[in-house]
Amino acid sequence: MTLIPGDGIGPEVTGAAQTVAAATGVSIEWESIDAGERAIQATGTPLPDAVLESIRRNKVALKGPITTPIGSGFRSVNVALRQQLDLFASVRPARAIAGEGTRFPETDLIVVREATEGLYSGVEHWVDRDHTAAETVNVITRKASDRIVRFAFELARRQGRRRVTAVHKANIMKTTGALFQTAFREMAKNYPTIPADERLVDNMCMQLAKKPEEYDVIVTTNLFGDILSDLCAGLAGGLGVAPGALYGDAIAVFEPVHGSAPKYAGQDKANPVAEILSLELMLRHLNETEAADRIWRAVWETIAEKKVVTYDLALPGYTDRPVPPSSCSAMAREIARKVPLVDLTQPAPRPTARSGARGAIDPSLEA
Ligand code: NAD
Repeated sequence: MTLIPGDGIGPEVTGAAQTVAAATGVSIEWESIDAGERAIQATGTPLPDAVLESIRRNKVALKGPITTPIGSGFRSVNVALRQQLDLFASVRPARAIAGEGTRFPETDLIVVREATEGLYSGVEHWVDRDHTAAETVNVITRKASDRIVRFAFELARRQGRRRVTAVHKANIMKTTGALFQTAFREMAKNYPTIPADERLVDNMCMQLAKKPEEYDVIVTTNLFGDILSDLCAGLAGGLGVAPGALYGDAIAVFEPVHGSAPKYAGQDKANPVAEILSLELMLRHLNETEAADRIWRAVWETIAEKKVVTYDLALPGYTDRPVPPSSCSAMAREIARKVPLVDLTQPAPRPTARSGARGAIDPSLEA
């Protein structure tokens, strides 16, 4: 298995995930390889060919976050990796865990984001020599739109989800938005048993901030998906608990939603859960279902018990039940300790609705 420790807090949280992986008993041979800042120091490039070769050979990778300098400097390794390996589907589940760190304990959303085109295509330039005007091209193709929308419906069908909502801005972006909208409407006809609807992205943000429990699978283009998945992570408890996966046809890379959080690098302070739950998604992908179930329950129990949790789940301001914060490695060890002990005969814990069944959409909130 390819392991990319990444930058900033990356080595700490991927190390934490390895501790938990070892506790599952699943035999994983890690092939650790650098991308990002450490790769630049060693090879002069942030994404050496050896990284792509390792992922292509192993077909699966667990990745830590990688720093992308703003403005000048090298191009985003994350965007390049997605494009070069054709990892077209970025899947980011936002599940509230034990009601901690969130005002919305019932949040249980999945953002499915197109990850190879849109405004992240890298087609951008200065319009004039003085750099007073610039353009970034929003590339949307029918092929990529069909592929991501089909992926979202298939995911909803496999996981028995309630609804698929497409998010776009087709009222303003009359070509790119409308192309994505048409792809969604036509694909929805192939899934008549799955309720399908649409929201404009601005309205979606407002509705998620008010009633996240009414939504389920959200499918959208690259930039909107990037923004909405951070919003959904915030609803579910913060970046510290938000995992992610990138799927292509034959390759999958698992990584947290969060970045390299440089201000916490080397402090053993960051929450390891997002990386550990990315490992959980990886084990499900590998059909190691029992190991994945054990990790989910051990994370849930650790957060619910709230004796060994990192600062973002512990301190006043982040929680109404403050406790002394633990380190990243201590929380990982606690989760790993629980992994073999969890009781798989009990139903798996899930985000719980405050008021029983989820209601119909409030028409006053429609666009
Ligand atoms: P960030 O996610 O790194 O950090 C934002 C804030 O969120 C942090 O300051 C911290 O308060 C909190 N946070 C993030 N992860 C946490 C964790 N595990 N535990 C506790 N708190 C956590 O976002 P940023 O500061 O905008 O980006 C930093 C760098 O990461 C940038 O270079 C950016 O390009 C890169 N980035 C990489 C990826 C990726 O590799 N997939 C994703 C997003 C950002």
